[in-house]
Formats: sequence, C-alpha cells, structure tokens
Amino acid sequence: MFSYSQNDLYCEEVPLADLARRAGTPAYVYSSRSILASYRAYDEAFDALPHSVCYAVKANSSLAVLGLLAKAGAGFDIVSGGELFRVIRAGGDPSKVVFSGVGKTAAEVEYALANGIHSFNCESAAELALIDAMAARRGVKAGFAIRVNPDVDASTHPYISTGLSRHKFGIAIAEAAAVYDHARSFPNLVAEGVSCHIGSQILDPSPILEAVDKVLELAASLRAQGYPISHLDLGGGLGIAYHAGEQAPPIRGFIESLHQRLRESGLTIMVEPGRSIVGPAGVLLTRVLYRKKNGHKEFIVVDAAMNDLIRPALYHAHHEIIPLRKNPLPPVTADVVGPVCETGDFLARDRQMANAMPGDFLAVCAAGAYGFVQSSNYNSRPRAPEVLVEGGTYRVIRPRETYEDLVRGETT
Ligand SMILES: *Cc1c(COP(=O)(O)O)cnc(C)c1O
Repeated sequence: MFSYSQNDLYCEEVPLADLARRAGTPAYVYSSRSILASYRAYDEAFDALPHSVCYAVKANSSLAVLGLLAKAGAGFDIVSGGELFRVIRAGGDPSKVVFSGVGKTAAEVEYALANGIHSFNCESAAELALIDAMAARRGVKAGFAIRVNPDVDASTHPYISTGLSRHKFGIAIAEAAAVYDHARSFPNLVAEGVSCHIGSQILDPSPILEAVDKVLELAASLRAQGYPISHLDLGGGLGIAYHAGEQAPPIRGFIESLHQRLRESGLTIMVEPGRSIVGPAGVLLTRVLYRKKNGHKEFIVVDAAMNDLIRPALYHAHHEIIPLRKNPLPPVTADVVGPVCETGDFLARDRQMANAMPGDFLAVCAAGAYGFVQSSNYNSRPRAPEVLVEGGTYRVIRPRETYEDLVRGETT
C-alpha cells in the first residue's frame, strides 16, 4: 500500500509529502487498506474451520485501528486492563477477547470478568486460584486455557523469543497436565482451551508447526480425560519483512499449511497476530534537520528519535528508510540519528540510503507495529500524531501532543 508514482511516495492514493507538510513531522501514518487486507488474509485462510482471529492489541492500540478491526469482525488478545478498556471504547466485542500475560492483577481480572471476556490465557497455578476466587465473588464461571511453553526455539531476537523453558512465559508443556488436573479443584473455572505463543518476528514458521503438533497432542489427551477443551490458541508471532528484499512468510500459506492437522482436531482455532497485521501498514514520517560529518562519518540528523521509535535502539531492529521524493543524487552511507541525548538514539547505522538533504522528508518503513505504542516523552518531546489513510483521504486519529500535554496532571 506504499509505492512510488513518478518520484513521489504514496500511501494508498495519498501523496505522503503533502501529508507530511500538513500534519507536520514526525508523524505515524497507517494504511487502513493494508491493515484490513492482512486481517482478512488470516480470517479467509481459515476457510471453513471454526476460528477466531484475535488481534494482539499491544502491537498498535490506537482506537481507530482497533475500531477498523472490530468492524471487520476481529477478536482481540489483550495483556492489560487498559487494553480491554481500549477495545471496549473502540467498539470491540468483549466476548471475543482473550486475556494473556504473566502478571494479571486482581483488579484487571475483576474488570475482565465484569465485561464478560471469552477466556483467560493463564500462565501459573497461582493465577488460576486468583481467577477462581474472583469468579466466585461475581458468581460466574471463567473459561481458561493454560499457556503452555512447548520448549521450541523460535530463532528470533532473544528479547522477543518466549517459547523456551528458560523464559518467564507459560507453563512447561510437561507440567501442563498436572496444572489442568489441579484446576479441577477450582469450581468456578472451566478448562476451555490450550494456548501457546512462542515468540515474535518469526520468519521461518517451522518452530510454530512444531509447537502446534505438541499442543494438539496435549489437547487431545486432555479431551480424552474428559476436559471440555474446545479451542486451541496458537498465539501470534508471524514475522514481516523489515529489510528490502526480505521475504516474510505469507499469511494465507502459513494458515493453510496448518489446515489438515487442525481440521482433524475438531477444535476452534484461535490466533493472536499483532505485528503481521499492523507492521507493514505503517510508516514513521520524519524530516531531515541537518547533515553533518564527524571525521569520515556522515550523519543525517532527523526530527524523529528513539522516543518516537525505540525498536532500533532496543532490539537493534532494521527499518528501511526511504525518501518521500526521490532525488537524482548518488546514495550516501550514513547514520540516521535523532535529537535525543543518547548515543543509542539512532534509526539506522552505516546505512546506504538516499542522499537526503535538510528539509527533505523520509519514511521509516514497517513501523506500524511496536512503534507509536512504545513511544515516550523522553527529553520532554511531545509524542507524534497518528494519521489513518483510507483511499484518497486521511484523518488524524491522534493529534500531536502539545507542551501542555507534557505536564498534564503534574504539580510543582
Ligand atoms: C505479543 C503477543 C502476541 C502478538 O505477537 P506478534 O509477534 O505481534 O504477532 C500474541 N500473543 C501474545 C501472548 C503476545 O504476548
């Protein structure tokens, strides 16, 4: 949904340089068409299998993005009470919400029960006891799945790999049966599912297939023992192309490769994709402030910084950086850095890229996931606006913060 026409970069039918001049920079821009196409790729690839695509809210929790997906029929995977609040505010259906995360608080469990969410993905026996007690207080039954840790290596960045036994996530698959057994003593819990999520930015889906086989086996054995298991939640984690020329696994092909084994199980299949739905749909627009040289090193100083997009600093993530208008100059090798006072404040290092001059606009690509949601006010920088493109039009879905916003609620 981002492509050049002549020398100008467009998002759908909107020329991004015009948008950048009107909305100012830095600014996040999302393509609604791209978000919906990825959601539908999941939804349609399941074909006739009973399924639920629960978008992982943490990847991009903008109300407008959640609203688009809610209208398209999506469920949601949440990891906090705040995310549930957003889903409800955006018009999402709480009965299609699954609540994941290793540290749910009593207040969050209460809030989720009060809103009738679909189920809890539980990560410890202690959490089961808490949910049972809260459900008893409300006089309701709470559905749960145990998030099992299948002990497979997702071979992704260590900070976003979660499926090995040394990680804090889930319950070791070998111990899961005992925890389901223990949960029988909780009268207000219903063992409805088995879940797993082995990591993020997974480019080779074979570890996911390995995990699926393991959780299918567990679900079958639990069913044979009389547990009312009706769904299997396979988590999210499908990767996207961050490097030019990189091939991400196609969503449809990936889901279709699971069909046979899933159909035989007779279970409702849930997935929790985040990055693969919103990642490719977003860019961060920025303007070149200065060019400078230290010794032989070239720097392109831009108005976006690590407070706007922390992925390069936090994960050494690569994002392609391309001009909104191509110029005829030969490419340059440079560091792209922001104004924040940290050496870690870079968007690219030693990057061969367009020879952008002060005043030129650049797009930091594939920034729709884990971008704005991880932004901060560090260095007292107001957060960037978010803009949603729909065909030939666009609207600001969150305005740029002001200096007043920076100090809201503070006292001297
Ligand atoms: C983060 C997360 C997801 C989404 O992962 P993506 O890599 O963005 O698809 C899904 N499920 C759980 C439990 C998560 O923590």
